[in-house]
Amino acid sequence: MIEFPYPSGAGLHVGHPRSYTALDIIARKRRMEGYNVLYPIGWDAFGLPTENFAIKNKVHPKIVTAKNIANFTRQLKMLGFSFDWSREINTTDPSYYKWTQWIFLQLFKHGLAYKQEMPINWCTGCKVGLSNEEVVNGVCERCGSEVVQKRKSQWMLKITEYAQRLIDDLDDVNYLEKIKTQQKNWIGRSEGAEVKFKLSTGDEMIVYTTRADTLFGATYTVMSPEHPLIEKMKDSITNYDEVLAYKTEAAKKSEFERTELAKEKTGVKLEGIYAVNPANGAKLPVFISDYVLVTYGTGAIMAVPAHDSRDWDFAKKFNLPIIEVVSGGKNVQEEAYTDVYKGNMVNSEFLNGLPVKEAIPTMIEWLEKQGLGKRKVNFKLRDWVFSRQRYWGEPIPLVHCDKCGWVPIPESELPLELPEIETFEPGENGESPLAKAYDWIETTCPCCGGKAQRETDTMPQWAGSSWYFLRYMDPHNDEALASKEALEYWSPVDWYNGGMEHTTLHLLYSRFWHKFLYDIGVVPTKEPYMKRTSHGMILGENAEKMSKSRGNVVNPDEVVEEFGADAFRTYEMFIGAFDQSTPWSQQGLKGCYKFL
Ligand SMILES: [Zn+2]
Ligand SMILES: [Zn+2]
Repeated sequence: MIEFPYPSGAGLHVGHPRSYTALDIIARKRRMEGYNVLYPIGWDAFGLPTENFAIKNKVHPKIVTAKNIANFTRQLKMLGFSFDWSREINTTDPSYYKWTQWIFLQLFKHGLAYKQEMPINWCTGCKVGLSNEEVVNGVCERCGSEVVQKRKSQWMLKITEYAQRLIDDLDDVNYLEKIKTQQKNWIGRSEGAEVKFKLSTGDEMIVYTTRADTLFGATYTVMSPEHPLIEKMKDSITNYDEVLAYKTEAAKKSEFERTELAKEKTGVKLEGIYAVNPANGAKLPVFISDYVLVTYGTGAIMAVPAHDSRDWDFAKKFNLPIIEVVSGGKNVQEEAYTDVYKGNMVNSEFLNGLPVKEAIPTMIEWLEKQGLGKRKVNFKLRDWVFSRQRYWGEPIPLVHCDKCGWVPIPESELPLELPEIETFEPGENGESPLAKAYDWIETTCPCCGGKAQRETDTMPQWAGSSWYFLRYMDPHNDEALASKEALEYWSPVDWYNGGMEHTTLHLLYSRFWHKFLYDIGVVPTKEPYMKRTSHGMILGENAEKMSKSRGNVVNPDEVVEEFGADAFRTYEMFIGAFDQSTPWSQQGLKGCYKFL
């Protein structure tokens, strides 16, 4: 199976057929060997580019989508792929998104979907909230605009509940090693401890650390500016104005800016309070600094400047003591899984002389005995921000009732179709365009029969693609997303090829949904795909990414017009190593044409 395309207005890119041709060859070979092969195609058709085009040109996204799909279909047929067109699916078709909504309702009913106000990544260009996976190097992966933090109430999916299984079950699948590594690093499992630091206010600050052994070297502590304890302690903090001003500045920065290693360290000391080091009773200053994020660990850290480069920079800047506790160990608090556990403990009372590997469990046991801490596994992975304040997506099938809270609509009312509206612009503050569809919003509560309002956020583009491979197995079923028999016969997908850039997005999301569907008895396998490979990009002749602005785009229509589909496909298969990026060459294409 290939990743189904997003039908953009630009038409097929010459990069698409590279993957399609390769898997088409496999499909044809297997058919000739006597296998019953499913090689399907469909459209991942909700999403922003279509919506933005619709806004600009004042046409309905539905019309834009239909037009784009017609063009993609023409191009794919022109290239002669052996897709099974009788199983064609379209994520924007209500008979398809009925089941996307159905899965969302099951997630909600199992406590895996919840709404929460939280700081989110906000794209200043698309005026839309982004998941962490969609922010690349501090900018929006889609439009390249700056991403800032904004507080918004969002639907979240608890992918974190599956973090351990998403790592463990990689052992059972045949993915390229680099794909497994990328997913594991993204999930970011670490083993450590939560340690309690008593504060002079009587409050308790919980700190997460992978290096409990270095506790005697902790000379100060740092809280995230958003840590809830700060407001609670405001009467004890004598420089609260300064603290608030810093907090406001920090809110403007993206997570990427805040955590960049090279960045100049900033922070404010909380005057009037201190923390107590649970190992030796030392009074430690408490700072807030933007490099500590409220969403990772517990939102507070103990700083061990002798053995952590960021803590070192901070300590130097604020003139704080630096105590070495591991001899011969430097910067040992780098990522836990890099395994830099060298050296022996010094300046650490009962730990002195122990190698680091023994000192960690010894300290954790001591903390547990004192009631000052506990063992804890932590993940970098966060819950998945699952709402968009946009029109062109699946409506979230819930209503809000003042008495009953969030209530699912009855499954018999699915699909909940998008209402017809006039304009598709989001509000200035990012309200969903659906907020203007008053007749659609006002409804009755399925629970108490009173007045209720529909959710106006829609699902992100990643929703429909999280389960589409299942629909191919039984695309016209009205009773279920697919029948048991079809799922037993076809699943799991034997071979799935797609872009490396989807490794921590679509590939991870769909594994999560699939595991959930397995848990509730809908699908027969724990993993959706047995094998995953990835193709390299096709670049322009100048070895840069193809784009209109660079003027290096090759149009498949023109290639086929002049050289034919056979030469085109042959060339793409001989262009270079399949998993590597490679530039287009008109000379190479001509060579294949002459050869044929
Ligand atoms: Zn954007
Ligand atoms: Zn109600």
